[in-house]
Amino acid sequence: MSGEAVWWVFAAFSLVWGLVIGSFLNVVILRMPEDRSLIPGSACPSCRTPVAPYDNVPVLSWLALRGRCRHCGAPISPQYPLIEALTGSLAFLAFVRFVPSVFEIDPAHGAAWLVYSSFLSILVVVSYVDLRHHIILDETSIYAVIPAILGVAGMNALGYTGWLDLGWRESVLGALLGGGAMAAVYFAVRFVLRTEGLGWGDVKLMAMMGAFLGPIPGLFLAVLMGSVLGSVVGLLKMVLTGQRGMLPMGPPLAVGAALYVLYGDLIRARVFPGIGAWEELMIWLLSG
Ligand SMILES: [Zn+2]
Repeated sequence: MSGEAVWWVFAAFSLVWGLVIGSFLNVVILRMPEDRSLIPGSACPSCRTPVAPYDNVPVLSWLALRGRCRHCGAPISPQYPLIEALTGSLAFLAFVRFVPSVFEIDPAHGAAWLVYSSFLSILVVVSYVDLRHHIILDETSIYAVIPAILGVAGMNALGYTGWLDLGWRESVLGALLGGGAMAAVYFAVRFVLRTEGLGWGDVKLMAMMGAFLGPIPGLFLAVLMGSVLGSVVGLLKMVLTGQRGMLPMGPPLAVGAALYVLYGDLIRARVFPGIGAWEELMIWLLSG
């Protein structure tokens, strides 16, 4: 088998892995906000018939059954195949990003792919749950900080070099600075402006993102992109519907973080060429 064929076999595996994780995430986002157990497996939301393994193939089963339950015919939300397809695509794109050729198929690059495809999966859950329930779960924020730092430390131990090769100290610093900066904004909004809108969940989310991205330029650029995106969407919503009010912050921040993981170096060079000056200022401020 040629080197390119070997790479495609691994890339296809990353897609299948992502689809299966997406299938699991569907169960997570349905049950976790309600504190329901993750076992047993999937069942039809209408007739409660357990889903047979052959009807539980990501994306394909939904298409084959035309979005209906095999037993009672109740419609099954397109949310299921969409979350699966999204998570699968992100795992594949992460593979393209972290294992760009057959020469990088080794434990170090595999670890980088695992760490960052897991991060992208967490961001899918964050976005969905925040849009739907206006909460950020601890499982997808503060509880993920230590696993993130351990993941980065594992990449360090395996000698990973390449895109996004943080040191574990940067990971710790990212969590502290991300959570700390957001906590400062939270208290300012709450006690100075005396309005709600920013939740404690957003503080924990920033700590988690900081642990995966490091403070500079990772978290800084992700938040910058997320803020621009959130402002544009917020303005559009105001113009189109005439409604004011805060939008959930999780989804735009998650999109900013995902864009950074997959294309941060390109975006940084092309869209924010002047960011080097900001980074130098931040580094100067941080180093006192
Ligand atoms: Zn049914």
